[in-house]
Amino acid sequence: MFNINTLVRPNILNLEPYSSARDEFSGSEGIFLDANENPFGTLNRYPDPFQKQLKQKLSEIKSVATENIFLGNGSDEIIDLCFRIFCEPGKDKALTFVPTYGMYEVSAAINNVELIKVYLDENFQINKNEALTLLSDANLKLIFICSPNNPTANCIDAVEFIIQNFKGIVVVDEAYIDFSDKESLSQKIDQYPNLIVLQTLSKAWGLAAARVGIAFTNSAIINFLNKVKPPYNISAPNQQAALQALNEVDRYEYEKAILIREREKMLLELQNICLIKKIYPSETNFILIEVTDADGIYNALTSQNIIIRNRNKVIRNCLRLTVGSPEENAALLTALQNISA
Ligand SMILES: *Cc1c(COP(=O)(O)O)cnc(C)c1O
Repeated sequence: MFNINTLVRPNILNLEPYSSARDEFSGSEGIFLDANENPFGTLNRYPDPFQKQLKQKLSEIKSVATENIFLGNGSDEIIDLCFRIFCEPGKDKALTFVPTYGMYEVSAAINNVELIKVYLDENFQINKNEALTLLSDANLKLIFICSPNNPTANCIDAVEFIIQNFKGIVVVDEAYIDFSDKESLSQKIDQYPNLIVLQTLSKAWGLAAARVGIAFTNSAIINFLNKVKPPYNISAPNQQAALQALNEVDRYEYEKAILIREREKMLLELQNICLIKKIYPSETNFILIEVTDADGIYNALTSQNIIIRNRNKVIRNCLRLTVGSPEENAALLTALQNISA
């Protein structure tokens, strides 16, 4: 039987969370003399610590109950919270499949947790047999799987296999799921008590500046996330901006359609550029390409004020191109053609 309490650090199990003034009384009417706020102004009040309005809206859009939603100051905050809840520093371990998103490693290092890095195979997929031999490590508490994966742009096939064969927590980072045809695992959190699904408003929803990340998971894990987070982790203006964006689903769909169309167009057009050796398929809003000289091309583009992501150190001679506006993508293509010529 799965028992979450055996995975949570003892100090977190025993933690008495900070009780804020707004926890104890959360009504909106009244004379508020409980939180030492300034009575004047418009940003003078502390924000809702549990972002109830925002969760209600997300619940409708994502078809997940509000009690199964946690919001972080970006998904980056939720990644850090996972380490702090489940991994005893200097003792417990985490695992991820590389190349992948760099924050898992940074967050592991900040929390003094060893991160085991297992290489994806030549198709950027998990080698199941190799993975199986690693999952039984008693100190391994946390696995991060990014799918669709950054920077490889593909979905990982063996995600559910890992969830089913691991007794610890699996965090599936779906930052790019909006751009994929695949189903989100958010609909399977009842089936898998060890699953945390991460999404974000930073990519398809166009709110990177507002810092809103989402976790979908069972209410037991939600309670631990709520216990450990800073009480007012999402500012009032950011909650407001998020709510406004979520009220404009049509705009989201419209922009997403443009980006997917542009991605498909770029995947075709890039084939005509001779310095590109390989174009990887993409289920995201970026394209990974292999070139003859990644550093040289990166520098040549930078000198024309076109900034792409050089992944040469992560995957040899690979560059990651974000899909931009039609005009931006056309400018990138022209620049690449000129460098080739
Ligand atoms: C961009 C990205 C995020 C977004 O993080 P936020 O903190 O929500 O902005 C998360 N995971 C991956 C894999 C990403 O590429």
